[in-house]
Amino acid sequence: MPQEYIRIRGARENNLKNVSLQIPKRKITVFTGVSGSGKSSIVFDTISSEAQRLLNETFTAFVRNRLPRHSQPDVDAIENLSTAIVIDQKHLGGNSRSTLGTITDLYAILRLLFSRVGQPFVGYSNVFSFNDPQGMCPECQGIGKKVELDLNKLLDTTKSLNEGAVRFPIFSVDSWYLKNYTLSGFFDNDKKLADYSEAEWNLLLYGKEGKVRFPSKGGPVESDFEGLVLKFNRLYIERDSSELSERTLNHVKNFIAHGTCPLCQGTRLSQAALSCRINGYNIAECAAMEIGELRKVIMGITAPVAAGMVASLSERLQHLVDMGLDYLTLSRETTTLSGGESQRVKMVRHLGSSLTDMMYIFDEPSVGLHPRDVHRLNGMLMKLRDKGNTVLVVEHDRDVIGIADHVVDVGPNAGTGGGEIVFEGTVEQLHSQGATLTGQYMRRCMPMKEHFRMPTGQMRITDANQHNLKNVTVDIPEGVLTVVTGVAGSGKSSLIHHAFLSQHPEAVVIDQSAVSTSIRSNPATYTGIMDDIRRLFAKVNHQSPSLFSFNSKGACPDCRGLGFIYTDLAFMEGIKTLCDTCDGRRFKDDVLEYKLHGKMITDVLDMTVLQALDFFEKKEIRQRLATLDDVGLHYLTLGQPLSTLSGGECQRIKLASELHKQGKIYVMDEPTTGLHMSDVGHLLDMMNRLVVNGSSVIVIEHNLDVIRQADWIIDLGPEGGSGGGRVVFEGTPAELITAEHSLTGKYVKG
Ligand code: ADP
Ligand code: ADP
Ligand code: ZN
Ligand code: ZN
Repeated sequence: MPQEYIRIRGARENNLKNVSLQIPKRKITVFTGVSGSGKSSIVFDTISSEAQRLLNETFTAFVRNRLPRHSQPDVDAIENLSTAIVIDQKHLGGNSRSTLGTITDLYAILRLLFSRVGQPFVGYSNVFSFNDPQGMCPECQGIGKKVELDLNKLLDTTKSLNEGAVRFPIFSVDSWYLKNYTLSGFFDNDKKLADYSEAEWNLLLYGKEGKVRFPSKGGPVESDFEGLVLKFNRLYIERDSSELSERTLNHVKNFIAHGTCPLCQGTRLSQAALSCRINGYNIAECAAMEIGELRKVIMGITAPVAAGMVASLSERLQHLVDMGLDYLTLSRETTTLSGGESQRVKMVRHLGSSLTDMMYIFDEPSVGLHPRDVHRLNGMLMKLRDKGNTVLVVEHDRDVIGIADHVVDVGPNAGTGGGEIVFEGTVEQLHSQGATLTGQYMRRCMPMKEHFRMPTGQMRITDANQHNLKNVTVDIPEGVLTVVTGVAGSGKSSLIHHAFLSQHPEAVVIDQSAVSTSIRSNPATYTGIMDDIRRLFAKVNHQSPSLFSFNSKGACPDCRGLGFIYTDLAFMEGIKTLCDTCDGRRFKDDVLEYKLHGKMITDVLDMTVLQALDFFEKKEIRQRLATLDDVGLHYLTLGQPLSTLSGGECQRIKLASELHKQGKIYVMDEPTTGLHMSDVGHLLDMMNRLVVNGSSVIVIEHNLDVIRQADWIIDLGPEGGSGGGRVVFEGTPAELITAEHSLTGKYVKG
């Protein structure tokens, strides 16, 4: 069969410079290039967006009006598109009732299996569903958790009742609620709670049967003596939360903890469902097993009526194992999965499907994967291709780029300096003749550091037991760059995000979450240079600075400074239309008559950071622009809404605002996400600058270039899940290479 192509002509979304390219069908095409070069603009904003739009066109108007709208991308033509399925790192969504088992349908098959061959037979498969009234635990309604008062939060045991030992507002000293206790005559009101006897504690927390006489102005009154715990439960926890005000609920939130449901022990299920077993296991025990283990148990079921279900379950479980997710359990709540894990779960859902001639689009699927596991991901991508699908991947990882049938390199630089196709061809061609940055970096990697900095102190994590951690006590050096490594599921996030941050809450987390949700913020407002710019305009033109703000006096009156009009449509996604009055410029016309060195305020907002560095002389402005340049964001325009930044860009703009602070502790989780190999060098420079300023930098990372440049490595493992949770190595990268038990060491050596 002759090779077919998807042909794109004249693409101009965002920074794309009228690019044309062709993508071979039923092959793997990897898109590379520095961050901000235009990869997403081609793959997501042009190809995938057009495929979605064409698909929507095939529906009736009734359905179409209920789907999100995709405007036509700025492109002359796209021929030969297939239906697109985007597999990204967005979280799977769902609520506390969604588990890995429910969203993959594996739990539904397991329920069917139990309803057919479980002993004793208890009923249809919905009896095993914790989301069905017939199956759920009546105590917790299938959530597995119960809300409890957290006494550690409620009581300050270093204080007496008179000193305000009860922290909840209605029990403040002098309050009528507290007088129930202080006037009861049961307590020494000046005794610290820490000195209470067992009996006093019981009385305070659980009260006493029968009435108690209290003195009062109008003579003694009789009242129940209710303990603090019972009172709190009655007033706040057992009440229907809709009866409480928002403000009260917010208060209450600070005093409660989520404990395990005492009836179902967290299994979410009714006692009848739990009593049903296959080969000695009930369905909750199966859901709590790690995937690899569960697969063995399922394969051991020999009842002939179960054969079909056993085959289907074990095949799908194997897909999860192949994806490197064998350490997860079916009972794991989807809201707790990381971005990389969510993406791999989505991938598994599609592998079971028999659709062919689809177009699968992946956004950096290697995120969160240890070099050891990248080949499994590659295997899955090839499997999708071999089933007759077109696979498009945006990726920076050398090993993933390595399996491409076709490489499209976008560049040469970022933003306005990019937006062109600088190389198209095979991986071999990229290696041997590619003069592009990607070509160069495919041929060389970062050397190991020669001198490792000495720590200025140690921060200890003591007896960490979160998730799979096995009572870990480990020192994190101060004043150096520490990289935490290990295969997915080994416990890196548990150690750093849960254990370290709970013991060292002053640490600052620099992550990839959105910088700002306001559509009015942009790099100029975020860094504060907008204020300086407005003052300059005001001084030169003898006007007030607020005139030069689209959030204030200068705003176009019709769109109130947004540049577009947002029409809210009751049943559909609202639509944005360009504001006719200001033509998207956001300012009133008369503001634009005032100039600074010949430029209008809108011209200034259209400048890139680099152009602005040329334009401004003022020291304060230049310094802040320089930090944006330092973090590799020189291509952003001053007015680009922050809501359009990618996760990696958000992380870097946050870094920029921290660069000059001193002596802090920073935590970063895979900061190389979204970064081209050539950008990783800049990132390392920045992390080193933080260290030089006296800060401690702790990074969770799989990128070998970053690992080689660390001062100190903490390697977790050896495996994921129950097979992990230990520190298998601590030391310098040079020592790591010779460490016997470290998988990471083998890869660092190369
Ligand atoms: P990559 O995927 O290679 O990192 P992108 O395609 O996301 O690059 O971005 C290319 C350029 O277009 C960057 O300068 C980016 O800031 C800009 N850009 C991306 N999305 C938008 C948008 N919605 N509005 C304006 N500029 C954007
Ligand atoms: P890593 O960061 O090295 O990928 P994690 O710390 O995320 O590893 O996971 C370590 C183990 O803890 C895994 O078995 C994982 O499934 C489990 N785990 C992580 N987060 C949660 C959670 N919120 N609830 C239950 N188990 C979790
Ligand atoms: Zn329960
Ligand atoms: Zn307007």
